[in-house]
This record gives sequence, C-alpha cells and structure tokens, in this order.
Amino acid sequence: MSQAVEQAVEQAVEKGTLYVISAPSGAGKTSLVAEMLRNDGQLGVSISHTTRAMRAGEQNGVNYHFVDRTEFEAMIARGDFLEHADVFGNYYGTSHIWVRETLARGQDVILEIDWQGAAQVRRLMPECVCIFIVPPSPEVLRERLVGRGTDAPDVVERRLAEAREECRHAVEFDFLVVNDDFATALADLLAIVRAQRLRMTVQQTRHRELLAGLSGPAL
Ligand code: GDP
Ligand code: ADP
Ligand code: 5GP
Repeated sequence: MSQAVEQAVEQAVEKGTLYVISAPSGAGKTSLVAEMLRNDGQLGVSISHTTRAMRAGEQNGVNYHFVDRTEFEAMIARGDFLEHADVFGNYYGTSHIWVRETLARGQDVILEIDWQGAAQVRRLMPECVCIFIVPPSPEVLRERLVGRGTDAPDVVERRLAEAREECRHAVEFDFLVVNDDFATALADLLAIVRAQRLRMTVQQTRHRELLAGLSGPAL
C-alpha cells in the first residue's frame, strides 16, 4: 500500500470504528455478521475479493467479488488491498477503497477475515477492534460445516484441519465470543459494538457541546 493510502487509512479510522471478526470456518461468523447488520444500521461489512469458486446460492458482488488468480494478482501488484491472504489454497483480500471511504463517512465497518489478514490490519490500524468467534466444541464445528451443505467432503476436512491453526491465534484478539446459542452470541457481539460507541474518545467528540455546557462557568 502506498504512503498516501496508509495516511488516508489512519485518518479514516478516527471516524468510524473498524471491527475485525475472525473464526474457524463454520463457526457461524457469516450468519452472525448478517444478523448484526440487520440489527444495527450504522454497521457495514466489507465485501472481500476471492479466487475460490462461487457456492450455490452465492452472488458475485454480494457475498464476495469473485475473481480469477490473474486478476487477484494484478490487484495485489496495484496495491488495491488493505490485506490479503492465502486461505485454504485460495486468495482472499480486502480492498482498501471502500473501507477507507466508509470509515471516513463515520460509519462502522466489519471485516470478516482470517487470522493472517487480521494480523495485517492490526499492524496498519492498531485502533481496530478484533473479535474472535469459536464454536462450543470441535464436534459442533464439524456438524455445522457438514450441515451447511456448501462444501465437498474433502473441503470440509481441509477446513477442519485449518481450524486448529486459526484457533491458535484466538488470544491475539480483543474479544472472544462463543457461538453456542445463536441469540446469545449475537447479543454479545452487539454489546461489544455498543460499548465501543460509549468509549470516552468517541463520546467526547459526539457530545462536545454537552460536556462544554456542563463543565462551563454557570449551570
Ligand atoms: P466460511 O468462513 O466458512 O464461510 O468460508 P469463506 O470461504 O467465506 O471464507 C474462507 C476464509 O477466508 C475465512 O477464514 C475468512 O475469514 C477468510 N476471508 C474471507 N474474506 C477475507 C478477506 O478479505 N481477507 C482475508 N485475509 N481473509 C478473508
Ligand atoms: P462461517 O461464516 O463462520 O463459516 P456460517 O455463518 O456459514 O459460518 O455458519 C455455519 C453453519 O452453522 C450455517 O449452516 C449456520 O446456519 C449454522 N450456525 C451458525 N450459528 C449457529 C448456532 N449458534 N447454532 C446452530 N447452528 C448455527
Ligand atoms: P469461505 O470460503 O468459507 O467463504 O471463507 C473461508 C475463510 O476465508 C473464512 O474464514 C473467512 O474469514 C476468510 N476470508 C474471507 N474473506 C477474506 C478476506 O478478505 N481476507 C482474509 N484474510 N480472509 C478472508
């Protein structure tokens, strides 16, 4: 990424909050994030680029921007990505333009990315809020991945094998949410967002006049 882009990214993060959400494949991250968006109009999710094949029911530009390896590599060369990683043998990446513009407008942004991408984003934007989601057990993770019915058995096995590596990085995140009961996990995620919006650094800007009036000379 160019220096100008890095500067713009730094300035942008002062406005909206950037949430990075990672989880082993099948933990429920996509379903939970979709529900978060339905519950909170101030949240937006970044649509990643990927070279993996489109699943039945997925739409280009909705779930992902589906591109081939040549196009993805050209985007890397152009510096289009905030972060990118090889996950399960496919490229996945976050384009920085939408993220930067959305944060600059004061809207919060969620990135649903793997631990490698999360580490890159944390280095570039240390203010980001990092959340790791886990299933209640390895057995449940298998049931969910199989039950989702979107991946061939060999793909499921590969994702389960990679889940261990992903989970080894859980401690690098700020928050841990266990997705056992879906409604509870959703409430936990929304609570993190709500608490974040009550932080003094955020509230000080939002309520500048109120604080000035209350601490002024005559009440
Ligand atoms: P699912 O998580 O099982 O639904 O599987 P996906 O194919 O949607 O995602 C595969 C992996 O790629 C997951 O670990 C995601 O977190 C990760 N991923 C998705 N988008 C991005 C991205 O833009 N950047 C990075 N670094 N990882 C991503
Ligand atoms: P991810 O995006 O992390 O790979 P998904 O959101 O696709 O995970 O969820 C994987 C599967 O598990 C989906 O079929 C989803 O409906 C299901 N699921 C998610 N959360 C729960 C939960 N708390 N209880 C039962 N099933 C769940
Ligand atoms: P899936 O292929 O099941 O849609 O996604 C598999 C994994 O790729 C998930 O763990 C997801 O978080 C990760 N992933 C999706 N998009 C990105 C991305 O843009 N960057 C990174 N680093 N990982 C991503």
